[in-house]
Amino acid sequence: VATRTALGSDLEALLTSGRVLTKEAVFYLRDASRIEAPMPPDAVVLPGSLGEVEAVVRWAYRHDVPITPRGGGSGLAGGAVPMDGGIVLSLELLRGVRDLQPGAWRIAAEAGLTTAHVQRLARENGLCFPLNPGAAEQSQLGGNLATNAGGPRAFKYGPVRAFVTGVEAVVPPGELVTLGGAARKDVAGYDLAGLLIGSEGTLGVITAAWLRLLPAPGARAFLAGFFSSGEDLTTGLLNVFASGATPAAVEYLDGGALAVVAPTFPQSLGSVPTSAAGMILLEVDGSMESVIHERELLAEALGPAVLGEVIWADGPVTDELSTWRDSVSSAVRATRGEKMSEDICVPVDRFGEAVAGTVEIGHRHGLAACSWGHAGDGNLHSTFLISPDSEAERERADAAAEELFAMAISLGGTISGEHGLGAMKNGYLRKQWGDTAIALHRQVKSTLDPKGLMNPGKKLP
Ligand SMILES: Cc1cc2nc3c(=O)[nH]c(=O)nc-3n(C[C@H](O)[C@H](O)[C@H](O)COP(=O)(O)OP(=O)(O)OC[C@H]3O[C@@H](n4cnc5c(N)ncnc54)[C@H](O)[C@@H]3O)c2cc1C
Repeated sequence: VATRTALGSDLEALLTSGRVLTKEAVFYLRDASRIEAPMPPDAVVLPGSLGEVEAVVRWAYRHDVPITPRGGGSGLAGGAVPMDGGIVLSLELLRGVRDLQPGAWRIAAEAGLTTAHVQRLARENGLCFPLNPGAAEQSQLGGNLATNAGGPRAFKYGPVRAFVTGVEAVVPPGELVTLGGAARKDVAGYDLAGLLIGSEGTLGVITAAWLRLLPAPGARAFLAGFFSSGEDLTTGLLNVFASGATPAAVEYLDGGALAVVAPTFPQSLGSVPTSAAGMILLEVDGSMESVIHERELLAEALGPAVLGEVIWADGPVTDELSTWRDSVSSAVRATRGEKMSEDICVPVDRFGEAVAGTVEIGHRHGLAACSWGHAGDGNLHSTFLISPDSEAERERADAAAEELFAMAISLGGTISGEHGLGAMKNGYLRKQWGDTAIALHRQVKSTLDPKGLMNPGKKLP
């Protein structure tokens, strides 16, 4: 392995001046999770061209130096945090739009473009990139692909995988590969693009993607309903499935989460009933006619299970409602100063059990617990509230999370529905997958990354 000093000067010779950081690397020690790098990376590189990405990967592979690819650092699993020193390869300067064809509903963009930038480009051209993970101004396209990001609208539109027709990447030992492209369908080879999507930087560095876009929906609105019990919430959810409508998003708050944000519920929509033990929030989009039609179907489906009337929101108040929904995570954290949130996902017909189970598990460990998230996908942000000063509470929350994962698996679900395993759940794949599936994972890894230098300590046990 190259010494730290040699590493910096060798890399400087490969890249444009100023693109190798050795001292100012502090920003790159963390992501949005609670994981922190055990030691600083030896260098952070900011390649500004494909050639520079190739040169860095080639150099690192020749000198046995680990590489941690980094997007916007909004990940919630410690995936972009370097666990073994080496090089952090940040894609932030690679943000070109290679090809935008509004008439063909298509864009090809580089990995460092933010999610929100892609959304804006689509919107300015009458189109829509429906992916809306919660940190869109920070997260980047490459990071979205590497985590197969979802978010509320994944219910109707799918996670980012559903929009990708091609991936460009630099794979070990430093080769540029193009998998797919602008064609909307391609079944000629194995789904290698699919392999890179969701691989959390452990197989290669994604440098660009071809995305299919959709025509922008003409109208958007929300429906909301409060429930007096967890059972009614589940009934309401299943009624949505039976309604004949396809909402863009089916979100929920359990009683604990709702109680925290009830005081800030948009006033123009009324107030949260004091007896509410949960809430469902539906986003509908499409043409004005279809939105009105879906409103009728959904209001009818929810009506029998809700407390009072089904709430309807359109116009400017929809933004207020979205902002309110986005405030849940930080408001819940503020109640005790810290929280531990997981992103388990279960089959939707087992959803009610997972919501109730989260609270019960917290209770068993002496911790207040609540959940919210993407009910339509069965995806819960199960959360345990802790004090930042209490190591004992953190340990109890860790133990509670273990039980939570076991519950998700026993319900036929997964330990991670959208954030990935990263460093936080490294090794946990074994809880979910059998020996043969783990062996296949290892074979894929060693075929693409024989030296194990791509994002070590992440995803795989
Ligand atoms: C407030 C908030 C809300 C969120 N809401 C959602 C949500 O609703 N849905 C959701 O899915 N996620 C959500 N997230 C998590 C996060 O935003 C997503 O996982 C996002 O896709 C990460 O993108 P990033 O560019 O920030 O990646 P990073 O955090 O930089 O990296 C994430 C992983 O991808 C790898 N990676 C990054 N770029 C590349 C690349 N170019 N090539 C190869 N590997 C790469 C990294 O090595 C790491 O393993 C949320 C996060 C926050 C802070």
